[in-house]
Amino acid sequence: MCFAKGKADPAVKSFHLGNDRLEPVKTADYLGLTWQTNARWDAHFEKILTSARKRSGIITSVIVRNGPSPTAIRLLCDALIRSKIAYGMPVWSPSSLARSHKLDVAITDPFRRSLGLPKSACIESLLTEMRALPTRYYNKLAAITTTRRAELLTPDHPTHEIITAQRLVREPTTRRKPIAQKAEQFSRNLRLESPKPKRDSRHVKKALMREHRVEWHRSGVSRLLADLTTGLHLPLYLKHDPAQIARIRARLRFDRANLQESISRRSSESKQTSCLHCGQTDTLDHLLFECPQLATARLLMHKKAQTAGLSISPDLARRWILSDLEQIDKHLHITALQISGNFIAAINNIRRL
Ligand SMILES: [Zn+2]
Repeated sequence: MCFAKGKADPAVKSFHLGNDRLEPVKTADYLGLTWQTNARWDAHFEKILTSARKRSGIITSVIVRNGPSPTAIRLLCDALIRSKIAYGMPVWSPSSLARSHKLDVAITDPFRRSLGLPKSACIESLLTEMRALPTRYYNKLAAITTTRRAELLTPDHPTHEIITAQRLVREPTTRRKPIAQKAEQFSRNLRLESPKPKRDSRHVKKALMREHRVEWHRSGVSRLLADLTTGLHLPLYLKHDPAQIARIRARLRFDRANLQESISRRSSESKQTSCLHCGQTDTLDHLLFECPQLATARLLMHKKAQTAGLSISPDLARRWILSDLEQIDKHLHITALQISGNFIAAINNIRRL
């Protein structure tokens, strides 16, 4: 194959292998990437998207009512889908945000299904809940870490020489900048310090996760979840809850539970906002703290919470019931999840969430 700009095929002298003429081709697989004569990645993207969707389907097919746990699904998505997408970056990257989004849908789909969330659940919020980076950030991560690894090599190492040369030669281009120049710009935006010999990628990944978190907060999506999400660690309910409880908790956190006020806000068809039992507005607070239909389950939860030393004031209790344990003493985290898990399971037995 011969790389060339423009639509016309370049005049290429013919090559022979023995008596056979080697036919020129438009695409060729080399080192796991599909290269194109016009130096675009359309064919590679299509191949990766097909593979990512297939793997996503396989992971989803093992999800049943009692498991596997969302953390196991997250691990499978990371090992089987994300690794496939990120392979070969930063040499290749999807050419548009729409393409990156398609890959993000494939990677989050099994996790979404394991949490019993509908298709309307926001992809960026799902990625945040999984503590995973969107595809567009993986390209940044690869550019920065490749360059930083090269910087740590001896100056006479060929990779170090290439990276230094890429920094020095400033071609007048805004698109397709050399990897080292892209990395320079990304690192400046992230205010990264010089590379560390150990665990440098982890350090860069954390900086990118913080950047994504700021972007996600500013976008104004999933307001309740954003309010409940602070640290970069995986929410404890995903590790601790049995699969069925984790699903209910996730639906409440993502504002996708069976609450009339929430449904009427999300749908153009339903205008019903009042609780089917008592007629009050069917909000999250009404469910957790007010509705008389759930008084017995609530009283039991209150008693257990008070014995354990957990606050039952709505402002604080709403947080720990929905697995935001930031303001609670660490030794009470599991107790809080157990008490709230039993409470939401009891609610779910009375009215389906
Ligand atoms: Zn009610």
